[in-house]
Formats: sequence, structure tokens, C-alpha cells
Amino acid sequence: MGFERVKSMVSPLRSVSRVALGLAVAASVALSAGQAAAQSFIRDTEIEEILARNSEPILRAAGIEPRNVEIILVGSKDLNAFAGPRVMGFNTGLILESDTPNELQGVIAHEVGHLAAGHSARSGDFSKAGMRPFLLTMGLGVLAAIAGAPDAAAGLASSASYFGTLGALGYSREQESRADQAGATLLDKAGLSGKGLAEFFDNFRYQEVFDEARRFGYFRSHPISSDRIEALRRRVEGQPHYGKTDSSEAMAEHAIMKAKLDGFLNPQVAITKYEEKAADYPSRYARAIAYYQLKEPDRAIKLVDALLADQPENPYLWELKGQILFEFGRTPEAEAPQRRSVELKPDAPLLRINLGQTLIALDDKKKVQEGITELKRALTQEEDNAVAWRLLAEAYDKTGEDGLARLATAEFNYNIGDKQQARVFAMRAREMLTRGTPEWRRATDIVLVAEPTREDLRELAREGSVGGRTR
Ligand SMILES: [Zn+2]
Repeated sequence: MGFERVKSMVSPLRSVSRVALGLAVAASVALSAGQAAAQSFIRDTEIEEILARNSEPILRAAGIEPRNVEIILVGSKDLNAFAGPRVMGFNTGLILESDTPNELQGVIAHEVGHLAAGHSARSGDFSKAGMRPFLLTMGLGVLAAIAGAPDAAAGLASSASYFGTLGALGYSREQESRADQAGATLLDKAGLSGKGLAEFFDNFRYQEVFDEARRFGYFRSHPISSDRIEALRRRVEGQPHYGKTDSSEAMAEHAIMKAKLDGFLNPQVAITKYEEKAADYPSRYARAIAYYQLKEPDRAIKLVDALLADQPENPYLWELKGQILFEFGRTPEAEAPQRRSVELKPDAPLLRINLGQTLIALDDKKKVQEGITELKRALTQEEDNAVAWRLLAEAYDKTGEDGLARLATAEFNYNIGDKQQARVFAMRAREMLTRGTPEWRRATDIVLVAEPTREDLRELAREGSVGGRTR
């Protein structure tokens, strides 16, 4: 569990190529001091939903309401997963190393097992102080790409210190065994086999003989031993659901998720690994994405169109097509596929943000208005989505609604953890907005929560906005 400790400042933003939020690789943060592996936070509706479906029965078995748990995807080859009371995180490396949904669920159960066994006490910083700014930082790389925004890099620098609270969370061997046992109990309670849990760790048993430095990071914090695996195997083999296997639907989803990650993250490998003559959906999907990543949009779109001929109602294929077209500057053509993705999956804010981004880029007054509506709708579901706030600010700039543009910029800054800029823009917004309106009040609220200066407070008190008390 847990991240490597960040000893010094994170690196500046790497250039981020994936603009649209399809599988948006957001802030790329090189973890410093001997930990060369770059980490990035990834948003993708399709993968988040698959992971949520995998986690759901286990969370429920632990008495945790799945709706309250945020699924986070971290782009890193290192095997890692983590669970907090409100967050379940997965490294892409872990997903790619898991052979079946049941193995992935085994790891989820183990991590939730740490929680159930009360081991989360050691990660208190992580779940309280650390998590929110961590989430806020997610949209940054995308922003930098959208606007070439220098302030995004500054925002990252200012929120980077929060990464320091995500300390390395090592567990003792005893705690590992307890998490295994708690995980096995949860799996059983959820009606799932514990086979994958034992097998996943068994696959990495050889790691035992490696010296520390060569181990996967996951096994630095989750020490593995033959005794532990044997104890776990004995336990799960005796459980009633041991023989239960993954459904064909779950297997198919797992393959799609891995293919998508391979296509996005390892495109060069993907075009060899997923053969051209392969007729299965995951292979064709991986190749389409890989060609897009290899900057061959025409080839990619041809492959996506062929998949769409088979699955015309698949929102993620429309999303992908729109994303490719937008990213390669074919904005007017991106509109229709993105509209279709939203029609097919109206409850997914990221799809709406894609559509909003395209609409406001079209420089057509009516469409910019429509883009504002889409972004606002997405924000009702994900109010801390910095990308959406940034785009909204851009849209209000275009419509000449300066007060609202400042307010959206204040929200953006607030959500990337830059309180100072949030306060500055909220003060400017207040000057432009009509006094007493909900927007004006919202700007005032931002000033108040964003560490106002004495001067700000005096100003607010003078006009009676904050009841005259400035202490
Ligand atoms: Zn563990």
C-alpha cells in the first residue's frame, strides 16, 4: 500500500499528449530521490467503471458503501494498490499483471483487508490530509495541454508539497498475513473465490529472493513469504466459494481494460502483442488506440469505425473517435461522435466535458453556450473537476461574461490547491458580479475558505459580507 515518499519537489509537468479525457493522462509527476518511475493520474470512464464493478462486492462485504468510494487509476508500471475509507486506487501495472478479474479482486480484498484490520491508522495522513489535494491535482496535465497554461504548472508546484503527506506505508509481515486473512473473509462473504488472491501473490513469490531494490515496490511495502502464501492457500481452499470462476462478461471486461491500457501506455508493444489478424474485440481495440498514440489518426479511425460497425451503441468507441479527431485538430468532425457518446452514456461527466471542450472550441456563439451547459452539468456531478472549471472559464471569456470567467478561474485554482490564486480571482469576480447573486456569494465563500488576508477580511467586513468580525 501507499506511495513512495516524495522527498523533494516534483518535476515540472511533462508534456502531456492526451488532451481529451478519454484516457487522459493527467499530471505526470516524477517521484524524486531514487524513485525514477514517473507517475501519472489517469481518468477513464470505462476503466473506472470496470474497477468499480470489481470492487463493489468486496466493499459491500466490508460494510463500505461503494458509491462513497472514489476509484483512482495511477499510471505506473510498479505494482500497487491502496484502499482508504473513501478511495480505492490501482496502478496500471497491477491491472496489467493480473490475469483474471478474480486475481484483481483478490488484491482489492487484501487492501480492503488492511482497512478492515485497522491498519489504515498508519495511513491517516493519506486518507485525511493527503487525499483531497491529491485528487485536485489530477486534472493538471490535461489543463496544461489544453491551454498551454503556465499557471497549471505553478498550481502543480504549489500542491506538490501535499504529496509529501503520502508517506510510504510499509506493513509488517504479520500485518500482511492479517490482511490476507481479512481479505479471504471478505471474498467469502461476497460470494467470491479466494483463489485469485492466493494465486496473485504466489505468482510473485520469487520476489522473495530478490534484494529489496529489485523488488516491485509493492512487495517492499507488502512483504511476501512462502509461509504467508501457504497459510493463505490453505485458508481459501477450504472456503465454500473456492471453485467459483469469473463470468464470461467479467473476463471480457478485464481483457478490454488491459487492451485499452496497453494501447494507451505501451502502443509500440501493443501493435505486436495484439496481432493484426486477431479478430477479437480487445485486440482490435488495443490496435486502434495504439495507432492513435503512435500519431497515425487515419489508421486509428479506420479501426475504430470498423469496431463501431459491430458495436454502434458503445459510448467508449464514440468517445475514442471524438478524442482522436479533436486531438488531431479535426474539431468540427469531433462534435458528432462526442454527442453520440453523451447520448449513449448521459451520466458520465468526463464524456460531457469532452463534448463541452469541443463545443467551446468551435467559435460559434450558440455552440459555446451549449458547451457551457454541458460543462456545468458535468460539474454538478464532479464539482472538483479542475479541467471542467478551466474550460468553463475559457468559455465565459468567449461570451464576455468576465465576472463568471473570474469565478470559474477561482474555482479552478481552488481545485488544484492553489488557494492564493483562488482568493485573488474570487476577489476580482466579486467586483464584477452582481451583489447578492448566488455567484457573488460563491465568490465570497471561496475568499473565506481560501485563507483570506486581513485586508480581504477587512474589505468584506466593511461591506457587511462577513458580519464584521475579522478575527
Ligand atoms: Zn498488504
